[in-house]
Amino acid sequence: MPKSVLIVGGGLSGTIVANGLCRQLAEEMRTGAVAVTMIGTSETHMYQPGLLYIPFGRMREQELFRDQRRVLDRRVNFFVDPAATIDVETKQVTTESGRVFTYDYLVLATGSRIMPQTIPGMTEAGHWFYDLEGARKLRDALNAFQGGRIVVNVNAPHKCPVAPLEVTFMLYDFLKARGLWDKTELTYTYPIGRLHALEPVAHWAQPEFDRIGVKYETFFNTESVDPATKVIKSMEGSEIAFDLLITIPPHAGAPVIEASNLGKGGWVPTNSRTLRREGSDNVFVVGDTTNIPISKAGSTAHFEADVLIDNLVSLIQEGRWARDYDGKVFCFVETGLGAGTYVWFNYTTPPNPGPPSQMIHWFKLAYNRLYWLSARGLL
Ligand SMILES: Cc1cc2nc3c(=O)[nH]c(=O)nc-3n(C[C@H](O)[C@H](O)[C@H](O)COP(=O)(O)OP(=O)(O)OC[C@H]3O[C@@H](n4cnc5c(N)ncnc54)[C@H](O)[C@@H]3O)c2cc1C
Repeated sequence: MPKSVLIVGGGLSGTIVANGLCRQLAEEMRTGAVAVTMIGTSETHMYQPGLLYIPFGRMREQELFRDQRRVLDRRVNFFVDPAATIDVETKQVTTESGRVFTYDYLVLATGSRIMPQTIPGMTEAGHWFYDLEGARKLRDALNAFQGGRIVVNVNAPHKCPVAPLEVTFMLYDFLKARGLWDKTELTYTYPIGRLHALEPVAHWAQPEFDRIGVKYETFFNTESVDPATKVIKSMEGSEIAFDLLITIPPHAGAPVIEASNLGKGGWVPTNSRTLRREGSDNVFVVGDTTNIPISKAGSTAHFEADVLIDNLVSLIQEGRWARDYDGKVFCFVETGLGAGTYVWFNYTTPPNPGPPSQMIHWFKLAYNRLYWLSARGLL
C-alpha cells in the first residue's frame, strides 16, 4: 500500500502543499510508494487578494480565476467532493457524496469564510470586498457614490489584517481623483484600542490617517446595523451614520471542522511550531484554519505550507522531523492606488513598516500575477 497524504481544501495552502509534495517526492510517486490526494469544493481556484482591486476597477474578474486542475500537479488525485466529516481516530474522511478516504497523513487546509449574517442588519446594509459578489456590489456602489459619509468597519477575526487599511488608503486616492474627497467624510472603526492588531502597524497608520483626514473610532465592536436609518451601532454604545458602509465581516472556519469536533468556530487547535493538530501526530493544519494567534494571510499560509512540505517529505523519506515554523509573515500593504509598503515579522521580530513607494506597489501588482507560479510551487 502506498503511503497516502490526504489534503482537505484546495485553496492557497492546500495547493502549495500538494504541488510541493509532488515535486519533492517525485521518485516515490513514480514507483507508487506515495499517493497525494486532494478533496476540494470547486473546479476553480480563486486568487482572493485580487478581490481588493475589483471595486476600484484595477483588476478584472477573469484575472482572479484559474482551472484548479491546471494549477495542480497532474500527479495529484483531485476530487471536487467536499469533506462532510473528518474522523481523526479512525483516520477517515467522508465526503458529501458518501466517498470514504483513508490516510497516513492528513492536511487540514479548509480556510476561513465571512459571516456578515452574525451581525443583525449587516447583510442588508453592508458592502464588502471579501467575496466576488460583495466586491461587485461595492464596485457598483463606488461608481454611483457622489459624496457623503463612508464608514470602513472592521470586525474580528478576519483574514488579511492589512486589507482594511489598504481599502481605506485606496478609497482616499479613488475619491480624490474623482473630485469627491472634499464631499466625503470617511470613518474607520476598529474593535480594539488602536487602528490595527499589530501595534507597530497601528502606530504607523494613525499619523497617515491624520495626514489625509480619515476619522477613526477605536473600541468599536459592532452590535448591529439599521438598514432603514443607515446607522451602525457598537456594543460600547456609540452610533455612526453612513451613506456607504464598507465592512470587513467577522470570519469563521469551515463548517466541517466544527461538525467533526475539531475546533470551536472552525479553528483547529494547532501547535504553533510543528503545525500538528494538538493531540495528533499525523494530522497537520495549515493556513487560515489554524488557531495560531498570528495573521490569517496568504503569506502566512504559504510559509507554513513550505515548512509542512519539508516535514512531510522528511518524515516519509527519512522518518525524521525537518524544521519548525517560526511564525514568518510577509505582506505587501497598498497605501493608495499608486504606492505601497510592506511588513514582515515572525514570532520574535515585530513588524516595522517602511516609507511607502511606487516601487513596492509595483512589486505587489507583479506578485498578483506571479501568484499562479507561486501556487504551482515554482516561486
Ligand atoms: C479581499 C482579500 C484580500 C487579501 N489580501 C491578501 C494579501 O494581500 N496578502 C495575503 O497574504 N493574504 C491576503 N488575503 C488572505 C488570503 O487569501 C488567505 O489568508 C489565504 O487564501 C488562506 O489560505 P488557506 O489555504 O488557508 O485558505 P483558502 O485559500 O481560503 O482555501 C481553503 C479552501 O478549502 C476549501 N474548503 C472549505 N471547506 C471544505 C470542505 N469541507 N471540503 C473540502 N474543501 C473545503 C475552500 O473551498 C477553499 O477552497 C486576502 C484575502 C481576501 C479575501
